Amino acid sequence: MSDPVLELIQKNNLKFSVSGRDYLIKCLNPEHDDSNPSFRVDKVTGVAHCFACGFKTNLFKYYGVFTNLVPMKIMALKEKLDALKKFGQELELPQGYTPWTKVFRGISPATLKHFGAFYTNAVEKLQDRIVFPIKDITNKTQVFVGRHTMSSGNPRYVNYPQGVTLPVFPAHLPSGYSSVVIVEGLFDMLNLYDKGCENVVCVFGTNTLQNDIKAKMLPFRAQGITHVFLLFDGDDAGRKAAKIYKPLMEAEGFITEIVDLPDGTDPGELSDEDIASIAEYVTK
Ligand SMILES: [Zn+2]
Repeated sequence: MSDPVLELIQKNNLKFSVSGRDYLIKCLNPEHDDSNPSFRVDKVTGVAHCFACGFKTNLFKYYGVFTNLVPMKIMALKEKLDALKKFGQELELPQGYTPWTKVFRGISPATLKHFGAFYTNAVEKLQDRIVFPIKDITNKTQVFVGRHTMSSGNPRYVNYPQGVTLPVFPAHLPSGYSSVVIVEGLFDMLNLYDKGCENVVCVFGTNTLQNDIKAKMLPFRAQGITHVFLLFDGDDAGRKAAKIYKPLMEAEGFITEIVDLPDGTDPGELSDEDIASIAEYVTK
């Protein structure tokens, strides 16, 4: 991979040393006689700061170099994510769990397997449920979400353990996408994925994403996602939520579009043809 910051330093014949994630060079402030280089330049972004005199700049700006900073910002985000990955606990799968191998509510076994669906009798709260390990951005399981196998089952969903903040799921998309479709429910997400729209995530209801939207969307920015499509349920709550989220997503730097569904339709019920046309639209 090219290294634009280093190239810029070498092109300008600056003496430098490496210090962690920075290059150390002589201060660029003409009023600072910097005998002991204390000017730190971020290796990735070119953001530069002198801790002795307080002078701040960006190396590209300083040398009048026009550059596309987006790839560098993405690299910086990836480094942040790597740092996050060093922390965090993981839940273990219950003993004696059985991987799910049948069609469930029209979702193919391959898709259910892809998202780790299983069945267990070892945890009472998860009995008679199709259970999904919900992984966070660090790829660690934070919570199990179980949907009752009977549509009349009550409650329809349980989270185990309770009280865990649900992440956006999945936290990573298959590579190569620049857009993401956001849906409300787990089975909305599974339905879209199953029928060929793989760049889809669910937010477990419209209230959860507002908390910590920056952190939750960070992995997608790091993946190079630039467009967000809000595909919420075709009801008052879904439409209201889409209107709330559009400016929030835009504030995070995503080009955001609301995909409005007909009244009474939710993405979990969409047919193959509907989803094929959505997939085509959001990847155009
Ligand atoms: Zn200085």
